[in-house]
Amino acid sequence: MRIRRVCNGRGRRYYAWRGAYRPAPEAVPAGDAPAQPAPCAPDTSPNPRGEAMVFVNDTQESFADNVEKYRVQPGACVTLANYDPRDTGPLRKKQAKSLLKTLGKRLNTLQELLYATEEHALLVVLQGMDCSGKDGVIKRVISAMNPQGFQVTSFKVPTPEELAHDFLWRVHRRTPRRGMVGVFNRSHYEDVLVGRVENLVPESRWRKRYGAIRDFERILAEDGVQVVKFFLYISPEEQKERLEDRLADSTEHWKFRAGDLDTREQWDAYMSAFEAAFEECSTEQAPWYVVPADKKWYRDAVVAQVLANRLDGLGMEWPALDPAHADLAVE
Ligand code: ADP
Repeated sequence: MRIRRVCNGRGRRYYAWRGAYRPAPEAVPAGDAPAQPAPCAPDTSPNPRGEAMVFVNDTQESFADNVEKYRVQPGACVTLANYDPRDTGPLRKKQAKSLLKTLGKRLNTLQELLYATEEHALLVVLQGMDCSGKDGVIKRVISAMNPQGFQVTSFKVPTPEELAHDFLWRVHRRTPRRGMVGVFNRSHYEDVLVGRVENLVPESRWRKRYGAIRDFERILAEDGVQVVKFFLYISPEEQKERLEDRLADSTEHWKFRAGDLDTREQWDAYMSAFEAAFEECSTEQAPWYVVPADKKWYRDAVVAQVLANRLDGLGMEWPALDPAHADLAVE
């Protein structure tokens, strides 16, 4: 069954479904609608500025502000065709590489602060089509942090044990405790992506999952887990090149799965599923970022900067020396 999303202006979204219009589940009646940006409007909200703010060009434009334009505003309609996977913002490759180094050091310090203060945790969700660079981000951005402070979980096809539980069961047990960074390479979103495109469960089940995910992420956020979600957006042309490179390089053959080609054939269906996931589940507390990912160096810089922004925004401070130790001296 095809479901068409229709944007009908400020705060009013409707689904064309079996030929009939019905309000989207979370839609607020127009009269009561709280003030919020019009769907698909560019983000003009102020963003936290911290030490991670890095000036990148002569006009002193702040990259820290720049990356926030990739954030999906709550309630906005998302059309991926309006995003350019080849976008490189204000950066050239050399600038991006040097920026990444600076941000890596900053992330390292911020993660140490997170660990030392133990008030918050950070959950980073990475999603994207095959070859979009989920592994690359872990290798080049997350690795700037102390390995003792983060844990990566890769979610594969669920095992029989996992399938016997609710879809969030395997995910919840891998969320980070306070002080730690958790990285999800794929995530609970697979259950509204592959689960939806491949009809792994009936529509009546996957449709309810958006609400369950919003509730789940709200519970995490209310209990100190900072949730940041990245969609690494590559073009089908770039994916083709990367898949061909994999086939041509014997050291990369192990990464190639025939299933990648089946998924590629369903490109449009996956893009629609991603759009729905962003519209349903990009919230103030747990936002989605659509990251242009055709250029690896730009993708990495954007992810690093968004993470630095988020951690900077927590205003963490080094714990003070215990007053009981104030008089101690090291002989
Ligand atoms: P990756 O592509 O992440 O490097 P794999 O090649 O092993 O790793 O692919 C993992 C596969 O697991 C993907 O095809 C993905 O769609 C699938 N998968 C992950 N989570 C689920 C899920 N909840 N239901 C069905 N398939 C899933």
